[in-house]
Amino acid sequence: MSGNDNRETEWDVIIIGGGPAGSTAATTLAQAGRRVLVLEKSKFPRFHIGESLLPYNRRIFNELGVWGKIESAGFTTKRAAQFILGDDTRGNRLDFSKGSFTEYPQAVQVERSKFDKILLDHSREAGADVAEECMVTDYRIEKDRVVLKYRSLDLADHEVTARYLIDASGLNNFTANKEKLRRYYPTHRKLAIFGHFSNVYMPKGEHEGDILIIRRERSWVWMIPLEENKTSVGLVIDAADFKALGKKPPEVFADAMADTPAVAKRFANAQSLDQFHVINDFSYKNDILASPRLLRVGDASGFIDPMFSSGVMLAMTSGQQGAQAIDAALKKDDPLSAEMKFYEKDNRRRIAIYWEFIENFYRLHFAQIFFQPYNRWGMVCSINAVLAGRTSLSWAVRWRLRAFFLLAWLNKYIPIAKRIDVR
Ligand SMILES: Cc1cc2nc3c(=O)[nH]c(=O)nc-3n(C[C@H](O)[C@H](O)[C@H](O)COP(=O)(O)OP(=O)(O)OC[C@H]3O[C@@H](n4cnc5c(N)ncnc54)[C@H](O)[C@@H]3O)c2cc1C
Repeated sequence: MSGNDNRETEWDVIIIGGGPAGSTAATTLAQAGRRVLVLEKSKFPRFHIGESLLPYNRRIFNELGVWGKIESAGFTTKRAAQFILGDDTRGNRLDFSKGSFTEYPQAVQVERSKFDKILLDHSREAGADVAEECMVTDYRIEKDRVVLKYRSLDLADHEVTARYLIDASGLNNFTANKEKLRRYYPTHRKLAIFGHFSNVYMPKGEHEGDILIIRRERSWVWMIPLEENKTSVGLVIDAADFKALGKKPPEVFADAMADTPAVAKRFANAQSLDQFHVINDFSYKNDILASPRLLRVGDASGFIDPMFSSGVMLAMTSGQQGAQAIDAALKKDDPLSAEMKFYEKDNRRRIAIYWEFIENFYRLHFAQIFFQPYNRWGMVCSINAVLAGRTSLSWAVRWRLRAFFLLAWLNKYIPIAKRIDVR
């Protein structure tokens, strides 16, 4: 192994990946006085999907001390999420300022290249050592330390050591793949086809900045206003349905835009601003998130269908909580502390909250209630809070959510909601 560089010293923590989960973990640890190294294979700014944030991201921005930088970057303000039926007969607008259990009334829509760079630069300023264009190629866990190998842009190989490792490698799922821990949800093998477009007709005035989520029979479309005349538009489709169509991604995308009335009227004059992207959007979970000297955070802990824009919020929350758990473990020099184990449990609990909504969204009995919201007992307010990113659920929110899911289930057998065609 060559490349004895100035990163020879043993670190408290090494983090694989500088996306939102990795940079949040790095800032949290650096602010706690820990020596942190982030190894990131790309050079920022780099393109990334995941542009619509949730209001509860704000809590973490505040705690990291980065909100001022995000605010001055001039991102689009998002006040609501609109869920619309593909035939354009019905919609449900969740205004985050109108939820009695929602503490943060608005979020931002971001170009991830710019947003991720702000977060990573902030980690540097907090004292983390950030090495870009350094790809982690291997790792091993020893009794007292972890040893990582990485390759820099000049193709030199390096070895570094730390007391703990955080895997924040996103969908690359670096350590869990090596340990064969990834389990896909068999019913959620999707494909996303997306790009940036000009001349998309998006809501103006009071509803300006809203994300539109358009439900088709077995797929859905997102429309996210990023700038004055730049909208992110994507189609999420079942991988098997895509294959059965036997067409190229741009063709499948164009057909979906044209034959979905709620989309077609907005997309008729759209022009592509850059290339199409296609990505496997397979939901998965990893069997283990916390093991001796290792934690997995962000998408590297599990990935769920992005329908409710929960990815970045979940990634940053797990990055922060994971870093706090490692900080506690460092204090005790415990390879697998109680805090690390609790992190695993709590991370799974958070993901499960959104998974329940995602699984149900395609079910007719659920959609019939979801698209005819009726705020009896404040049930819509509890949904508003969760879809705004609230994961610490008080009893008041929990029982209302349970009542909502119970009614949605009963609706399968008794017509609780009017029978509308939601397909
Ligand atoms: C189609 C689609 C649409 C989405 N839409 C939304 C949305 O609207 N809102 C939302 O909140 N979320 C959305 N998401 C989810 C969101 O993109 C992710 O949840 C979020 O980016 C996770 O952050 P992360 O830090 O865990 O991973 P990432 O942001 O992917 O960061 C991981 C980093 O690790 C680096 N890396 C990987 N392997 C290595 C290695 N071996 N060595 C060094 N570095 C490495 C990568 O270069 C990358 O920079 C969407 C996802 C998809 C697929």
